[in-house]
Amino acid sequence: MSLNPIDHEALEAIRDGVRSLCQQYDGEYWRDIDKAQGFPEQFVTELTEAGWLGAMIPEAFGGSGLGLAEASVILEEVNRCGGNAGFVHGQMYNMATLLKHGSEAQKAAILPRLASGELRLQSMGVTEPTTGTDTTKIKTTAVKRGDKYVINGQKVWISRIQHSDLMILLARTTPLAEVKRKSEGMSIFLVDLHQAIANGMTVQPIDNMVGHETNELFFDNLELPADSLIGEEGKGFRYILDGLNAERTLIAAECIGDGRWFIDKASRYANERVVFDRPIGQNQGVQFPIAEAHIEVEAADLMRWRACQEFDAGLPAGASANMAKYLAAKASWEAANVCLQTHGGFGFATEYDVERKFRETRLYQVAPISTNLILSYVAEHLLDLPRSF
Ligand SMILES: Cc1cc2nc3c(=O)[nH]c(=O)nc-3n(C[C@H](O)[C@H](O)[C@H](O)COP(=O)(O)OP(=O)(O)OC[C@H]3O[C@@H](n4cnc5c(N)ncnc54)[C@H](O)[C@@H]3O)c2cc1C
Repeated sequence: MSLNPIDHEALEAIRDGVRSLCQQYDGEYWRDIDKAQGFPEQFVTELTEAGWLGAMIPEAFGGSGLGLAEASVILEEVNRCGGNAGFVHGQMYNMATLLKHGSEAQKAAILPRLASGELRLQSMGVTEPTTGTDTTKIKTTAVKRGDKYVINGQKVWISRIQHSDLMILLARTTPLAEVKRKSEGMSIFLVDLHQAIANGMTVQPIDNMVGHETNELFFDNLELPADSLIGEEGKGFRYILDGLNAERTLIAAECIGDGRWFIDKASRYANERVVFDRPIGQNQGVQFPIAEAHIEVEAADLMRWRACQEFDAGLPAGASANMAKYLAAKASWEAANVCLQTHGGFGFATEYDVERKFRETRLYQVAPISTNLILSYVAEHLLDLPRSF
């Protein structure tokens, strides 16, 4: 099946719109947020009010009904302008899970309020401290009692809880020992965070390198109404996996935005900085690594478009989404390294923003999926090699 070409001209209008909003939030704004380990409240509100965060919500629910290609451009531009889309990307892919698997009542109750900015669905609780990437072994349980589910357990690294109203939570509803396949028996729930914080969920912020406002969560008999369940009981792991292709592609686009920011910044500095009576960029030892990083970012971008085309056509996009995330996270990290090196000592000064973005883009080789896990996916599912774990 041939894929619809990407209409780059139409995407240019989106780029321009997002860029003009982002340009009001300069390096100083993002530095202050980073220093305070704060949250870019004003930026997020403006991005939402301008409709960009509702891009993928269908028009019938108050959004713009756009595809993953358009959404990816929005997040790419945030990072390309020196910002950090990590504060907002959760809503785009969490919303996709709700849209695909939520009931009509859930969608009607939540999606228009997400589109208007009245509610935020920025959080997803999957990772646990004792099981890590081995998600099917999660120990958080949801036990049905009458018209409620009772949640007990613990999560770690759950981002944006303090600035979200809702969270999608993965918990085991059937013990691992009682299911045929380990991927069965888990379910996802839509958690009202304000209710939960007062009734059995404790939040412990984790001081961390990227200031993502990320947390440990403890559940002690948290009661959720039975209608918080999204889709069918026991199928939650599959639903989460469905959403991951959107997540990986969007994060690939953020990395491409980062990569382009680093390359621009490095090229500008290499042209301006004069040492030994000539611009440092005149030295091949300085310009070649920048050129190499540029090639790698552009190559990753091609895979990102393939993932968008497949996803938007409703085709299986797992391979492309994973490969796009792998290539883009690697390319943006290489570009970050080159940019820092090009700046010499000044790269370490916070006012250049290089060290901040260097830290921010490093995250994407670990989260939301580590590079090794993508390699093992490709080895097993694309190359038919034996499963390694
Ligand atoms: C800032 C930040 C924000 C996050 N936000 C969220 C969030 O909002 N929601 C959420 O659910 N999670 C979130 N995470 C968690 C993130 O998804 C995990 O950290 C990531 O998936 C890796 O899991 P882990 O940390 O448990 O590493 P582990 O699973 O302990 O792995 C550690 C290392 O070992 C490697 N490894 C493990 N097993 C294998 C294997 N079989 N073969 C080869 N290598 C292997 C991994 O690749 C990794 O490099 C966040 C993490 C961070 C740092």
